Amino acid sequence: MKTFSKEPGKEPRRQIACPVCGSANFRPRWSSEHYSFARCRVCGLVYQNPQPYQDILTQRYDDEYFAYEKENEEGYFRLMRLSLDDIEFDAFTSTIPQDRKSIIDIGCATGRLISSLQQSGWTVQGVEICSASAEYGMLKYGVPIHIGTLESRRFGDGSFSVAHCSHLIEHLTDPSAFLQEVRRILSANGWLIVSTPNIAGFQARLMGEKWRSAIADHIVLYSRKTLGLLLKKNGFQICRIKTWGGIGAGIAPAWVKKPADYLAKRTGAGDVMIVLARPVP
Ligand SMILES: [Zn+2]
Repeated sequence: MKTFSKEPGKEPRRQIACPVCGSANFRPRWSSEHYSFARCRVCGLVYQNPQPYQDILTQRYDDEYFAYEKENEEGYFRLMRLSLDDIEFDAFTSTIPQDRKSIIDIGCATGRLISSLQQSGWTVQGVEICSASAEYGMLKYGVPIHIGTLESRRFGDGSFSVAHCSHLIEHLTDPSAFLQEVRRILSANGWLIVSTPNIAGFQARLMGEKWRSAIADHIVLYSRKTLGLLLKKNGFQICRIKTWGGIGAGIAPAWVKKPADYLAKRTGAGDVMIVLARPVP
């Protein structure tokens, strides 16, 4: 599946310090006509600098984006299920008492994942910035979806035992504010699941600025190291991490892709990573 991306025009941007370590010391990494990625000289984070404003980014999630989400709904659901199996979702959540099984899926698109979890007895909540996706999902699956950002809803302290966000964190201009809010709404012994492109993976190294995730909509591109630093800074510790995807579909024949995928997974150099983390007591 292709990554959705809209080429931005000229839009207001501002110089920022590294969103992970706060250093203003960076060097240019990749650039295109309207946006460029920098690499922090202190922690190694790759992030867009200058950075677009969040309210302008929000406007990109329009009807065109909804059409993309709707078309790929089942494909993404299958991928999410596979990635959750990778971190043994069913096993670690089996210790949560049934009446406390509550999950929030932030950036839930049409709510396909929470609809499936609701059927297996979970109390579910979605959050989605694209109103068309959220409205479609609420109607189709009958699941609750808050339209807007997580921070705009103010859920109660410790409301959820699991927070899931798939391909969301790389879109955020202030990932620390987001993680602080997640920590607040998670129960003390809750679980956080984050999946995001892996800039330390094989594909990113091979493709450079042509990497499919080096796009305008991705504000920060994380590696295992920099995502770990961000989580630690915001009170989370990593319990498990898995990666997948060696070579993109259509780039190489199956006899190359298959062993490359296998190798990427074995070595942690996959194109996408999924992290299981918990709040530090
Ligand atoms: Zn840094």
